[in-house]
Amino acid sequence: MAPRTDSPYWNPRHETLPRPELEALQVSKLRRLVAFAKERSPFHRRRLAAIEPDSIRGLADLARIPFTTRDEWMDAQLAAPPYGEMLAAPEEVAVRYHMTSGTTGRTPIRVLDSTKDWEWIAEMWCYGFWGFGVRPRDRVFIAFGYATFIGFWGAHYACEKLGCLVLPGGAMTTEQRVRTIVDMGATVVCSTPTYALRMAQEARKLGLDLAAGPVERLILSGEPAGSIPATKGLIEEQWGAKAADTAGMTELGTIMIFECSEQPGGTHVIEDHYIEEVIDPESGEPVGYGELGERVVTSFGRGMIPVLRYRTRDLVVRVPGDRCPCGRTWDLYEGGIRGRVDDMKLVRGTNVYPRAVEAIVREYPEIDEFQIRLWTADGIRDEIEVLVELPGLDEEDGQAPRLLARLQGDLADGHEGLRFGVRRVEGGTLPRFELKAKRVLDERTVIGGAGERRAT
Ligand SMILES: [Zn+2]
Repeated sequence: MAPRTDSPYWNPRHETLPRPELEALQVSKLRRLVAFAKERSPFHRRRLAAIEPDSIRGLADLARIPFTTRDEWMDAQLAAPPYGEMLAAPEEVAVRYHMTSGTTGRTPIRVLDSTKDWEWIAEMWCYGFWGFGVRPRDRVFIAFGYATFIGFWGAHYACEKLGCLVLPGGAMTTEQRVRTIVDMGATVVCSTPTYALRMAQEARKLGLDLAAGPVERLILSGEPAGSIPATKGLIEEQWGAKAADTAGMTELGTIMIFECSEQPGGTHVIEDHYIEEVIDPESGEPVGYGELGERVVTSFGRGMIPVLRYRTRDLVVRVPGDRCPCGRTWDLYEGGIRGRVDDMKLVRGTNVYPRAVEAIVREYPEIDEFQIRLWTADGIRDEIEVLVELPGLDEEDGQAPRLLARLQGDLADGHEGLRFGVRRVEGGTLPRFELKAKRVLDERTVIGGAGERRAT
């Protein structure tokens, strides 16, 4: 239900609850969730055997609940295919099936949702859309292949719920999407950050000036880059619009964080529907405000799939909500999702995060697309190089070589002096992405071999 007034908040009461009241709300929801999960889901019944719901009195009691890992979830599916014993309602209650996009060879996580779950999924997206200033008068283009990946499905329903006009952009070429956005006067566009840049490239090719066009806002999701300042700056410049980051996951069915219209450089956690913890990925111990750690999520809204203390592998830095002037009491993830625990590459003793490389590469608007390649040289030594497409630059007049040399210097400066190869490749030869971009090609044959040891 949309707010009657033009409040900046979708749920004015919950988004501004003083922290003690917010925590009391979370504790009472947690108590109900534990009782519900024990009663309805065989997976959780086994794991929560020792916990009486009534014994949950405060957030400190969370620590008594075991973590859930993706491996455990997958094992449960394999033991009782196709869904495992996770479901808290019979299959008949479900109205739609989705699965994680998953890397090749890995079992995807399979999920089912009921009609009621879909209402909740849309409601979570409404927090984000409304909080970024999307209103019923808007026309929203969703650049997304409507298929088994859950992606922007919830965004679609949220926009209908808001009363916007939705322009579904499935099964279209990039050219058709760009033309539809312009011809139909879309004021809001939803896509991944990578695909937002891809559409802008296509528009240039078609001679369309997006910056002079109707789009006022972009809602980004699906990749961490929506919070990388250089990438976001590039998107905002090319579209002549404001861009907001959001992030969700198939395991939850919807988003759990969104950026508000103040654009504080981070995303608010939807704290009336989730408990988010940040832990040291090695020890599992909590880390404080301002420290990098792994997100652990407990979700209250999805009836068919209760999620308790799920280890997401997402890296975040949590800071208090009052860092943002919007008035929400909900904490922020500064810089959004910083990457994945498993993303980190160790190269000759130096940590390399793809996100950090992207932040440097996107400082160069001349670069259309890039790829990070790792390989083993001489059977033993790690090498890393960044391949870039520079469609507008001539080799002869020295512009391109100068840019490559500068980029190489910046990459080394950002990585304790680590030497990166930097190589120009022909325009249009690197892969383009519509969903989650995969720009790291790790072809090393001896991972953890000589040259991998850290001094510690
Ligand atoms: Zn805010």
